[in-house]
Amino acid sequence: METRIIDGKLISAQVKDEIKDKTAKLIAEHNITPCLAVILVGEDPASQVYVRNKKRACEYVGFKSLSYELPADTTQEKLLSVICELNKRSDVHGILVQMPLPKHINEKAVIDAISPDKDVDGFHPMNVGALCIGEEGFVSCTPAGVIQLLKRSGAEISGKECVIVGRSNIVGKPMALLMLRENATVTVAHSKTKDLKEVCKRADIVIAAIGKAKAITADYIKEGAIVIDVGINRNEETGKLCGDVDYENVAPKCSMITPVPGGVGPMTIAMLMNNCYESAVRHIGE
Ligand code: NDP
Repeated sequence: METRIIDGKLISAQVKDEIKDKTAKLIAEHNITPCLAVILVGEDPASQVYVRNKKRACEYVGFKSLSYELPADTTQEKLLSVICELNKRSDVHGILVQMPLPKHINEKAVIDAISPDKDVDGFHPMNVGALCIGEEGFVSCTPAGVIQLLKRSGAEISGKECVIVGRSNIVGKPMALLMLRENATVTVAHSKTKDLKEVCKRADIVIAAIGKAKAITADYIKEGAIVIDVGINRNEETGKLCGDVDYENVAPKCSMITPVPGGVGPMTIAMLMNNCYESAVRHIGE
């Protein structure tokens, strides 16, 4: 079977180029420049890289970005007051607090403090609830990116058996709701699932969001299935990134598969840009 490798870098570049064009129009016709505020607390190197990439993406698509780099000992109260100020500013369309936060700060309190209208990460309970009942709202960027990868690769979703491995609030659960919205028949598996191999083998589409290197091996996959690997794990010995899927052995069985890196990863930032653009569009005519 011919396996198609889904090129996340290419598709994310297409999405960003579309946003760049739409942004130029929004500025020219309505004098609105989308603006994303990014808040980083502490000096975690991985978070610093993510924040830098988000700022670069803003620059590329023509957004303004505001950057708040706060020391690791910032109090929760101080962080909430920064968010409160940004909530009030009409020129700021998206607020992103880079996770994880230092232990002394309650992540839930921070997520809840961001105005749902500016919650471009899609983590606020209002946006999660909207997704659940099919109303408009911001959708968590990684699962939204997976849908774009599938659609733009021509994968049929409607009526297909989809197994999602992982049930986190930021990936697995919203992923399940989005696949349901696309009319897939959805199973959500997790660490307590019995006989995960047999459950996965039923699937036309397997989405792995586990956080365990190469957990999904070839014997979990039906011949001709589509495999989407959300996992980002670092191999302790080689230092290289790898996914939750044993790519070398799984790929020959699939009709389509995403690599790690270069699959789902690049889509997350593209969808963040998309959410921020959509937020700015809501200001037309104000
Ligand atoms: P979490 O740790 O929050 O969730 C992991 C999920 O996997 C849990 O639901 C857990 O089950 C389940 N799980 C763990 N072990 C097993 C197992 N052996 N069998 C079946 N299910 C299992 O992780 P996230 O959802 O935040 O992230 C998942 C992966 O995706 C990570 O590698 C992360 O780095 C990556 N990621 C990638 C992004 C991207 O941009 N590409 C963005 C976000 C995450 P239980 O609930 O029972 O504990």
